[in-house]
Amino acid sequence: MGNNNFQTALDILQNIFGYDNFREQQAEIISDVIANKDCFVLIPTGGGKSLCFQIPALLREGTAIVVSPLIALMQDQVDSLKANGVRAEYYNSSLNADSAEQVLKRLHLGELDLLYVSPERLLNKTFKQQLLGLPISLFAIDEAHCISQWGHDFRPEYAQIGELRKDFASVPFIALTATADQTTRQDILHKLQLVNPQTHITSFDRPNIRYIVLEKKQPAKQLINFLEARDAEHESGIIYCLSRKRVAEVALILQNGGYKAKAYHAGLDAETRQIVQRQFIRDEINIVVATVAFGMGIDKPDVRFVVHYDLPKNIEGYYQETGRAGRDGLSSEALLLFGTQDIMTAKYFIGNITDEEQKRIETFKLSCMVDFAEAVTCRRSVLLNYFGEQHDKKCGNCDVCLNPPTFFDAKVAAQKVLSCVYRLADSNGHGFGIKYVIDILRGMDNEKIRHNQHQKISTYGIGNEFSADEWASIVRQLIHLGYLYQDIQNFSVLKLTTKAGEMLKGQIELELARPRNKATRTGKTKKISGIQKAQKEDLTDAQLDIFEELRELRKDIADSEDKPAYQIFGDASLVEMAMQLPTNDTEFLKINGVAEVKLEKYGGEFLDLLKTL
Ligand code: ADP
Ligand code: ZN
Repeated sequence: MGNNNFQTALDILQNIFGYDNFREQQAEIISDVIANKDCFVLIPTGGGKSLCFQIPALLREGTAIVVSPLIALMQDQVDSLKANGVRAEYYNSSLNADSAEQVLKRLHLGELDLLYVSPERLLNKTFKQQLLGLPISLFAIDEAHCISQWGHDFRPEYAQIGELRKDFASVPFIALTATADQTTRQDILHKLQLVNPQTHITSFDRPNIRYIVLEKKQPAKQLINFLEARDAEHESGIIYCLSRKRVAEVALILQNGGYKAKAYHAGLDAETRQIVQRQFIRDEINIVVATVAFGMGIDKPDVRFVVHYDLPKNIEGYYQETGRAGRDGLSSEALLLFGTQDIMTAKYFIGNITDEEQKRIETFKLSCMVDFAEAVTCRRSVLLNYFGEQHDKKCGNCDVCLNPPTFFDAKVAAQKVLSCVYRLADSNGHGFGIKYVIDILRGMDNEKIRHNQHQKISTYGIGNEFSADEWASIVRQLIHLGYLYQDIQNFSVLKLTTKAGEMLKGQIELELARPRNKATRTGKTKKISGIQKAQKEDLTDAQLDIFEELRELRKDIADSEDKPAYQIFGDASLVEMAMQLPTNDTEFLKINGVAEVKLEKYGGEFLDLLKTL
């Protein structure tokens, strides 16, 4: 953008929002919108999409119209903007007639820089007619994937937004989403009828999230251990379970353990759900145990951990849910408890799907999820590669990187498995599943084996050096490496690939990851390279005490203003305060997230408190 415009945009960033620098792509996007260009913005959750239209809204003539799918999201953004002194309102069904009229009046008087509207209101004929007569600075379509049936949150009301493009030919449109997949992307561009859109895509990586996968053994105990290690009493977190029943169970366990936890699922009445959501946002409870029904519309920036108590159905869902951690860029953890029983359950549900095509897709997606959970390479690489983003470095912030598996010469073990599969297929032409093959290797005695006369084959009992779990790990690795495949269409029996032949002939050397008997936790989150932000983990004990005091003050102020605490200041700002101990207004302004309006409103109280610490 021109130097002048850039300087003005930067001024707004610093003086209104209190941030020092633009993040990746923000300046470019803002520049395009100011230059009247349509934009398509694909930035992961927490990447800073909002400023991309909020700053142009303040720079351009007229009012910016922001379309948002959820009332809670609109309220949250408008409140945050107002807290920084920006003239923003929303217009949706939650307003009573009087308030709605007030908002429209201010719109007509040109007193609004941003107006958030629901798609229903926007498409209302009279409203649209009114807009046509007003100076509009831009249209921002937030959560733009809602326009696509391919996306995971299709909203029929979104489908007609594209019509507006023609009516407001000279106004730039900016579509924003965090949804990655190609089909949805294409669909958004097509349905919104964007004109030569400038595409802005940033990496999907969320470097501040630590991915951890634990083999699910005693999940309740594993969960409690995890929470204790994190000192989770003071932190916000979400625990996802697959069924309502499980949600209720886990919530109860946590409540009995003294945690401020509540259950959330679609079976609860709307009021209860709303209360839980509000208590979570207001830090009155710390943990929500939920089905996937919980999350959309939760913009809480300081969620410090997300636990998957059960295996998610696919990587898309997993990534979206874990992505709710650490929007503020501070270090956060995503824990997945992964058990083989969960795979069976998921397969059972897929088995009930009648549409064959759908069944095939779901099966494929599940197998990718399982691959991720079983990966012995960097988790982040697996995830990013799944979304089509090349990543082959070790991230240093996942369980595999932090605690790499050791490898062993597995040639003989592999040959034992493969020849066992070969013999079994040989004797009846059909083949058997993983468990049966392992039973044969370990020389188990059961009725099925006796019935099949398999105690007589040459590979019976040749594998006593490993436990059943260890063999299972070896077999899974052989599947991943392409020596075996599981015939999903046919009772998941194991079959040999052509590569297996070479292995059996002894032509290939092979190392496999040593099966882990016990997956170990990786300890408290430490500073991560690549994130410049001050982290809570960097605080000394004394600073941590100050942080807690600041947090209490923040909570008091938030309660008295009837707002969520993060709208006063984010955790990152408090961490900086605890480190830098500002003593006057100028120093206080230097804290990230502090600008004029907040200095004026809260500076006094915080500085007073800091003086006493
Ligand atoms: P998204 O909509 O992409 O999920 P948000 O717009 O909600 O992300 O921004 C996530 C967080 O990052 C917010 O707390 C926001 O204030 C902060 N943020 C955005 N841009 C910057 C920046 N340039 N510098 C510092 N913090 C920023
Ligand atoms: Zn890694």
